[in-house]
Amino acid sequence: MADHDHTNLGTVYLVGAGPGDPGSITLRAAECLGRAGVVLYDYLVNPVILAHAPPSAELVCLGHHGTGRTMPQQEINARMVDEARRGKTVVRLKGGDPSVFGRATEEIEALRKAGIPLEIVPGVTAALAAAGYAGIPITHGRQSSAVALVAGQQRPDKGDARLEYAALAGFPGTLVFYMGVTTAGQWSGAMIGRGKSPQTPAAIVRRCGWPDQQTIRCSLGTLAEVIARKKLRPPAVIVIGNVVDSAAELSWFAARPLFGTRILVTRPREGTDSLRRRLDELGAEVIPQPVIRISDPPDWGPVDTALARLDRYDWLVFSSGHGVRYLLDRLHDRGGDVRRLGRLKLAAVGPGTADQLAGYHLRADLVPQQFRAESLVEALAAEASGRRFLLPRASRGRPVLADGLAAAGGEVDQVIVYSSTDVTRPDAQVATAVAEGRIDWVTVTSSAIARSLVAMFGDDLRRTRLASISPLTSGVLRELGYPPTVEAAQYTMDGLVAAMMNEP
Ligand code: SAH
Repeated sequence: MADHDHTNLGTVYLVGAGPGDPGSITLRAAECLGRAGVVLYDYLVNPVILAHAPPSAELVCLGHHGTGRTMPQQEINARMVDEARRGKTVVRLKGGDPSVFGRATEEIEALRKAGIPLEIVPGVTAALAAAGYAGIPITHGRQSSAVALVAGQQRPDKGDARLEYAALAGFPGTLVFYMGVTTAGQWSGAMIGRGKSPQTPAAIVRRCGWPDQQTIRCSLGTLAEVIARKKLRPPAVIVIGNVVDSAAELSWFAARPLFGTRILVTRPREGTDSLRRRLDELGAEVIPQPVIRISDPPDWGPVDTALARLDRYDWLVFSSGHGVRYLLDRLHDRGGDVRRLGRLKLAAVGPGTADQLAGYHLRADLVPQQFRAESLVEALAAEASGRRFLLPRASRGRPVLADGLAAAGGEVDQVIVYSSTDVTRPDAQVATAVAEGRIDWVTVTSSAIARSLVAMFGDDLRRTRLASISPLTSGVLRELGYPPTVEAAQYTMDGLVAAMMNEP
């Protein structure tokens, strides 16, 4: 142990991942993940949080969802020490707060013994999450001036301290039980036996902060029976005390319009964010399953040629946000910048594309009233004659724009600035969820997506509902035999979200 060079030791960060909502981790937690070489995480951690880690980081799950089987503590300790000795930055990511029923002390001891530098990053523990997400105040001006966090399960084999039920029964405040679902009969009975009223209000808060959070109210006396009848499984915290009665029937979290709705977002990775964020905020459970992949064009040659001759065009016409990104990033990568666009006028097919331009501090001169290629042609037709148009486009798609502008007398050059290809295989878990009818909506945001989606899931799509972004996309879906349930009135991501909200 002593012969290690301390300057080459990696640091171990014991990081709290909060209860489930990926937005509730701390800035420090995100920072630590951002430079992690290895992440060792518990199964209670929402895997979405792992996106903060660099792609190069090794992600190791220490437990199996459902089975409850986890890597033995000894092995976890050894692994942390080993990785740190190899100079790796290690993030040991734990649900909630690492120091609340997280067995952090055992890990800290092992690290200290090995002389590994460590830092503890606190997180939102489940009791506080219940207060926030389920709206049950754990302290209350008139009703409760103290809170006890209680383990509903002790492991004498691990040397855990035993509970003093008489003291707990007399505790002057709120009790929050962790790990108490399967043992509820024992501990509630033990407290009632020592004088605590069976009428004391209780709330079971299950999967707090997750899109499928559940809150069930009962009383201390009926707790075990309710858990058995509803077949409730961990993880849940159980809040005992009068504060339960002062909580609103439905918390702000559960009252959001799309709470409990599972939505498959099929846009390519780079594009999903705005739609995803919006759905997230409305309470939906967003499951990303890109059905098309966007990548570099097959040949940069024609793109570079077009970029070198930008000054011969009058209009640059973008039919997608990807087109904006690929063309302008290439311009920059080749040593140029937006000044090269000079006197060119810019057209965008819709607000999403215009937003991409705005990201480069460019303003679209034209966005048609209806966000589709036909409307763009109409808007440009009057002055197309004799003008030169450059159309950056995908490796596949409709010729409407080019044909329309040419028919109106324009001189049109098309250049493929990105490739669009089908993703053929869905994620296995996603495929099962679709097949079992567990997906409430699938978003269909282009014709190419419609085609690839049908190829990917086929008849299983009849077990869910399709939300289409436009009449064009709906037409493709109908042609393939899968008519959409709703269609956006405005052909934008916001329009799509509104359409789903109108159809509960
Ligand atoms: N360190 C964690 C607790 C780990 S012990 C924390 O600070 O929250 C595991 C117990 O935590 C579970 O049995 C359950 O009681 C509670 N728990 C963890 N995540 C939870 C969640 N999202 N909702 C409800 N309870 C949760």
